[in-house]
Amino acid sequence: MSVIVCFIDGVGLLPHAAAPWTTAHLPTLINLLGQLPHSNLQIDQPNLYFRAIDATLGVEGLPQSGTGHTSLWTGVNASALLGRHYPAYPAPSQRPMIAEQSLFAKVQQLGCTSLIATVHRDHYWDLVVKREQRATAAALAAQVVDLALPATPEWLAGQAVTWDITGYYLQQWGALAGLPTITAHEAGLRLGRALRLADLVHYECYLPDFVGHRRIVETPEHTLELIDSMLGAIISQMQPSDSLILVSDHGNLEMIDHTSHSRNPVPLLVIGAKAQAAAKVEDISQITPLILDLLI
Ligand SMILES: [Zn+2]
Repeated sequence: MSVIVCFIDGVGLLPHAAAPWTTAHLPTLINLLGQLPHSNLQIDQPNLYFRAIDATLGVEGLPQSGTGHTSLWTGVNASALLGRHYPAYPAPSQRPMIAEQSLFAKVQQLGCTSLIATVHRDHYWDLVVKREQRATAAALAAQVVDLALPATPEWLAGQAVTWDITGYYLQQWGALAGLPTITAHEAGLRLGRALRLADLVHYECYLPDFVGHRRIVETPEHTLELIDSMLGAIISQMQPSDSLILVSDHGNLEMIDHTSHSRNPVPLLVIGAKAQAAAKVEDISQITPLILDLLI
């Protein structure tokens, strides 16, 4: 029995099915939900739960990744605690709280194991020390329990997935120059296989937020199609006792006419025998408790 949390940065829901959802080819989501995702859709079935959850956390302004990720991977409403949304990486003042409230420490306290499946830059913590890399909330939460961060060797060995799913966009940036890319299907197979290696598999995909900000030249539709293909492959590897959580931190990609975040609610999709545990989740600060519920 294992849980995979598949985080997709910057994907919100509109009140009705609209572009880019309606203009993308999303067979996995259509097959699961029976229709395209939107914020008024709620599904509560024995093995499937879907609804839109709040990402604004009761704080004015556009929700941001720093406080969003911190809320997701600690179970603490980081925006309310800080009094504002904080962009990109965690607020320095919240790093001690992330260590104290780390999702991965809580998983360890249950006697369960975690596996980070997201490829990080080689020698990540050395780069952080040299201030050439800022630590993500997930990395800080992992550090407190000495969880390994996979890097290029694990990616080449088929054991981890880059945050852009395929590696293609990182190659365009020169980050993985000369190395082979993979399909979104292969990315999903890798994540699904990781379910057999740990109780919790944690993967972060930042691609939709980068596309929403136009920092990567890609259509929102194709971005959703990559996620859909990856999701289908993960599901193909799940055993009946496994669970999957798909969630985001704030809207962005769904707003095709502008390039900033939105206050739209975000999707929460849960697959597995305990999917109903998600019914009590109202906002993104309640994802850590949900993960723990699914593990016990
Ligand atoms: Zn974000």
